[in-house]
Amino acid sequence: MSGAASAAAFPPLREELRGLEPYGAPQLDVPVQLNVNENPYGPSPECVADIAAAVAAAATTLNRYPDREFTELRTALAAYLSRDTLPTRGFEVRPEQVWAANGSNEVMLQLLQAFGGPGRCALSFAPTYSMYPEYARDTVTTWVQGRREDDFTLDLDAARAQVLEHRPTVVLLPSPNNPTGTALPPEAVAVLCEAAASYEPSGVVVVDEAYGEFRRAGTPSALESLPEHPNLVVSRTMSKAFALAGARLGYLAADPRICDAIRVVRLPYHLSAVTQAVALAALRHAPELLGKVDELRVERDGLVTWLREQGLEVADTDANFVLCGRFADRHAVWQDLLEHGVLVREVGPEGWLRVSVGTPQEMETFRTAFRRVREAGT
Ligand code: PMP
Repeated sequence: MSGAASAAAFPPLREELRGLEPYGAPQLDVPVQLNVNENPYGPSPECVADIAAAVAAAATTLNRYPDREFTELRTALAAYLSRDTLPTRGFEVRPEQVWAANGSNEVMLQLLQAFGGPGRCALSFAPTYSMYPEYARDTVTTWVQGRREDDFTLDLDAARAQVLEHRPTVVLLPSPNNPTGTALPPEAVAVLCEAAASYEPSGVVVVDEAYGEFRRAGTPSALESLPEHPNLVVSRTMSKAFALAGARLGYLAADPRICDAIRVVRLPYHLSAVTQAVALAALRHAPELLGKVDELRVERDGLVTWLREQGLEVADTDANFVLCGRFADRHAVWQDLLEHGVLVREVGPEGWLRVSVGTPQEMETFRTAFRRVREAGT
């Protein structure tokens, strides 16, 4: 065989992956990074010292595999989640209801590995988080893209009808939604969990609360509904409000039978001893790490008002980011902002851009850059 012929067939990638780009926002070294919805505030020196000491302690036994069941971490995460259930609903989340992995993307991929697969489908409502179809693709699960209303809200009758029509074994429901920031109506969990339980094989409903800690006062977490719905999964992450994106720790709460099913598909020792130590130390500093959430909410609401004053359409948001438009040429606006040292995200429906909420100084830089870009006529 000639070299050219063998090069054409190499590497032997799955047909449906040919020509695809890996997922991810551009990683650019820019002064103001408002593109991946991180918490802009880093840990205090005390928190850094505690994390470093925990890693040093873990390092003394790195010749051994870590605790495969990460029991201590599951217990600490359960206690953390119980803060959302005990005062309002009077129950605690138990450690056997908790599962964790390297970011909530991995948690949800594991859910698809366990509950998706050939002959089954997963469904979400677009526009939504663009990794969802990738979990489906990678687990050979059929992807069904349901629809949201024009203002990005979910019409529950329409959503229920779409679930009953396609009978997905996994429904992915972000609340708040990315990239729009839209929160789910509180009745959504019961309506869609009941719909997904009404056919065979039934579906699990994953409420992805990656941005859940940013929700408005009075909005319940889906965690509160766990006792009523054995097919409900609530996914969370330490990457956003918890200010720990670099540590890669996502987790879920669900019926223990769901956690046990995931244990069948997880790789052995998937959570390193270092990851477990870092997450445990960070949880001890939860009040500090979450301490800027209120300020970020205020900054977000200020940004929404300001962008509307500039004549833009802005989606109502409960998250730490804002989707605004509509730009005739969003790429040109993205590029011009970049030239002013501000990186935002070109994502979501055509004509819209997503801006993460940063520090007050970063937002001031964004506003100045944005004004200049508009004055220059982009
Ligand atoms: N869900 C949503 C809605 C997200 O926006 C993200 C990150 N952008 C994730 C899950 C995954 O985050 P991580 O893997 O860092 O937990």
